[in-house]
Amino acid sequence: MSGTIPPEVGAILRRIPSVDEVLAGEAIQRLLARQPRWAVLEAVREVLAGCRERALAGEPRPESAQALLDPQVIQASIERATSRKAGPSLRPVINASGVVLHTNLGRAPLASSALAALVAAARGYSNLEFDLAAGIRGSRQAHVERQLCALTGAEAALVVNNNAAAVFLAVNTLASGREVIISRGELVEIGDSFRIPDVMTSAGGRLREVGTTNRTHLADYERAIGPETGLILKVHRSNFQLLGFTAEVDAARLAALAKPRNLPIMEDLGSGALVDLSAYGLRREPLAADAIRAGVDVVTFSGDKLLGGPQAGILVGRRELLARLRRNPLARTVRIDKLCLAALEATLRLAREPDRARQEIPVLRMLSLSAAAVGARAEALAAGLRAAAPGVRCVVEEGTSEVGGGALPLQALPTRVLSLAPGREGAGALEARLRTGEPPVLVRVQDQRVLLDLRTVAPEDDATLLAAVAAVLTAARTGDGA
Ligand SMILES: *Cc1c(COP(=O)(O)O)cnc(C)c1O
Repeated sequence: MSGTIPPEVGAILRRIPSVDEVLAGEAIQRLLARQPRWAVLEAVREVLAGCRERALAGEPRPESAQALLDPQVIQASIERATSRKAGPSLRPVINASGVVLHTNLGRAPLASSALAALVAAARGYSNLEFDLAAGIRGSRQAHVERQLCALTGAEAALVVNNNAAAVFLAVNTLASGREVIISRGELVEIGDSFRIPDVMTSAGGRLREVGTTNRTHLADYERAIGPETGLILKVHRSNFQLLGFTAEVDAARLAALAKPRNLPIMEDLGSGALVDLSAYGLRREPLAADAIRAGVDVVTFSGDKLLGGPQAGILVGRRELLARLRRNPLARTVRIDKLCLAALEATLRLAREPDRARQEIPVLRMLSLSAAAVGARAEALAAGLRAAAPGVRCVVEEGTSEVGGGALPLQALPTRVLSLAPGREGAGALEARLRTGEPPVLVRVQDQRVLLDLRTVAPEDDATLLAAVAAVLTAARTGDGA
């Protein structure tokens, strides 16, 4: 601290109890009996440090210093901080935002059969890398390869930690030190400043950009091919759309260009649908099977976007190329973990039965819900809120859900949302109280209203959601009255 502390601040500082004094108190002893010691200690230190900071900042005027130093206020702060610390940091939230593949909220919730497979694999030992019939070492890839080949028509498959790793491994194996030809219209940023061209160059590929932002022609690719070429890469624009005066070369024509020249061609599909979403009334995303049929040698996509499985990067394509990828020492650094593998296998089994997939894979179920079905649940929530928190002003109205996760960016999903009028505190304050409640509820704020979209809430969570929102709304009124 520079300068001298004013005497009135010094007086307050001296009255802040020491950690030992607080710990000796009876209330803290009761807290220690039910909460871990480390959490209580951290909470005490944090709360007392907070008191000192506020005193030094000159915050408590003499008349409010009493409140700052009130043992009951301090105790309550310590109890709240202890509960926060003792509980898990990573915990479930209710996603009422209507964004189905919400990257910040963990993307795809898993199907029940995927959860069961994950728990079974986690609980004990498994035949992860053991061939039970032959009694010899096996490959973890064997558990999913057959399903992926059946779903996509590919000769072989390989799964890794995530799709960025899949692209990295493929570029590193097939084009390290060589040129990777890519259209300027496909140099995409995935999110969080993570860019495909950066992945390619850090994997050792040399970027050879062709065409322009809006138009790339076959002749552009043809002219770029030379002795330095290692790979032709096509990146699906899964998170944005190019409209207007545009041209791109489809995978089939690129494959026809690459084949006679013995060049591998790879397509990063990003969101990676295995099931045709046009059956749900959505825009048709290119399927991995389409790319394989077009002659693409290596196709990559995510496990936790439109497939609706766990985080994973999936590669399907030619046997000989994928065998080279497997032999790359980097393959070990991006190996898929056994829990994800178990959940992925179960999800792929569901994907082989499109009707069951639509019922049981949460992402597909949410995407296929009608506005009327979402609206009926919103009406039930509204009725519950009116009963639990009389005076609450809420209505059900038209709205739009989002696919999210960088998939189908312009696809509007008509929905019905519960719209809450926030009252005097304002929409931002209500949103924050819902977000910091228990369980946290994440909503959308629009035109000074708080919107809840039940498309992304599991039906079995509807009662929990009602209780959480009602608790926040009734707490608000108590606060207003005080
Ligand atoms: C999302 C995405 C990725 C990255 O996939 P992760 O599984 O998140 O690593 C790569 N390429 C494209 C085109 C994507 O949309």
